[in-house]
Amino acid sequence: MVKYMPYRNIEDKRKYDREWARRKRSGQITRLTQIPSKEESHKRMLERQRKYNLNKRKYLEENYGKQCCVCHEPRIMIIHRKDGQRHKLFTNMSFKELREEVEKHKDEYVRVCGICHTGIHWAMKYLNLKWEDISTQK
Ligand SMILES: [Zn+2]
Repeated sequence: MVKYMPYRNIEDKRKYDREWARRKRSGQITRLTQIPSKEESHKRMLERQRKYNLNKRKYLEENYGKQCCVCHEPRIMIIHRKDGQRHKLFTNMSFKELREEVEKHKDEYVRVCGICHTGIHWAMKYLNLKWEDISTQK
């Protein structure tokens, strides 16, 4: 019993096998599709990663907007939890995880720029302010 049969047609399979055997006998490479080089597969991996991160960013933009919710500048954005508690970083989450978190706790987070983020945590720590005191969204 053949577990994996790539060809529906047994004649095609036989033809392929004969070709394979012929290549093998004549010392040719038996593989028909080229194995990508290390650089090529690295490039493909980076491209996949880039697209993946882009999708995550798009999703966050759709849910939290493109601009910092404090200064409204379109800088590099960070997801901040309003109560200031530690949370798993969105950048370390898979897309699935991130989506689940947003669906469950959307209102607990805001998207702010790095500068305001530092400022928010400073104000929370040293001025003992809460998110409601800091937020410009009234
Ligand atoms: Zn900002």
